[in-house]
Amino acid sequence: MSFRPPVRDDLVELPGYHSPQLSVTHRLNTNESPEPPPPGFVEQVAAQVAALDWNRYPDRSASTLREKLAAHHRSGHVDIVADNVFVANGSNEVLQTLLLAWGGPGRRIVTFEPTYAMHGQIARVTGTEVIELDRNENFEIDPEQAIDALRDTKPIITFLCSPNNPTGIVESPAFVSQVLETVSDFGLLVVDEAYAQFADWTALDLFDEDRPLIVTRTFSKTWAMAAARLGYLLAPQWVTERLNTAVLPYHLDAVSQIAGSTALDFEPEMDARVARMVEQRGVIQAGLAELNVPYWPSQSNFVLFRPTTRSGDSGDQVWEQLVERGVLVRNCASWPRLDGCLRVTIGNAVENRAFLDALAAILG
Ligand SMILES: *Cc1c(COP(=O)(O)O)cnc(C)c1O
Repeated sequence: MSFRPPVRDDLVELPGYHSPQLSVTHRLNTNESPEPPPPGFVEQVAAQVAALDWNRYPDRSASTLREKLAAHHRSGHVDIVADNVFVANGSNEVLQTLLLAWGGPGRRIVTFEPTYAMHGQIARVTGTEVIELDRNENFEIDPEQAIDALRDTKPIITFLCSPNNPTGIVESPAFVSQVLETVSDFGLLVVDEAYAQFADWTALDLFDEDRPLIVTRTFSKTWAMAAARLGYLLAPQWVTERLNTAVLPYHLDAVSQIAGSTALDFEPEMDARVARMVEQRGVIQAGLAELNVPYWPSQSNFVLFRPTTRSGDSGDQVWEQLVERGVLVRNCASWPRLDGCLRVTIGNAVENRAFLDALAAILG
């Protein structure tokens, strides 16, 4: 065999990000919208795509999309302009660009576990040290412990996720303010708000050009556009300027830009979709309660639960039996701190019924 150059030492042991895409009837594992985008959306995108100058590079600064996002988020007390917005291929690329610019060898970030695995994963891939702080047994962050730990470790980036994936918990305004004030002496605070439309408040309420606060969002979930790969962040201009140095030129293609700009014209439809998901979340939570399955009340489009069958089967086995019955949920059973837990995405009424029926049959 010919010589195979070794990969970077720190990547040798690093596991990848795993979320199996199995072919099943009901896919309730990745928190996608169960509904497609609203009528008219695809036609409007298609018409603009047909009129594209395909031989030309896309608008490098994605100015139309960023203007529309700024307008979407501007409110009485939050003054956001296009230069506060950075867009990329999914919020994961947004996070990666942040870590390319602020992470790297000799730098560290803090996460509160369990949380979205990609925060730590992207940090490690960029050679950034990850300090994992623990939530309590209810998956809540102890504010006092958290602030002490942040003062001790002084991370360049502190990650919060609100609502938190996979627990569905929203962090309080008081706690997020306190973290922001604490890190202001040494780092940035990133609040991942992938599921913001389900929460009763947003960290954008704290947005200010003089504060090191970054809020990330995605079109993958509530906007029903996971296929397009589009995400963005809102940050002070002194942050977005640097991101533009770190990111590749023309990184965001014209089709994604068009899809995002068009989606924003369908905001009422998005809100209605979210309301339907909230109603269905009630159905799932009531169903779990009826089956006596412990679960964590969620403020998002997924529910974390911990099933045990009469014969004592739990996490992995229940997950497999759900797959056998055509229902794919997220298997968190072997993740640190999530012993035996599964996470179900809120689907449509038919999917949720199928999930609850399958689970009832498995639990006996
Ligand atoms: C799904 C999800 C994302 C989305 O990532 P994209 O790259 O935009 O698809 C980001 N953060 C969290 C917490 C998520 O659950």
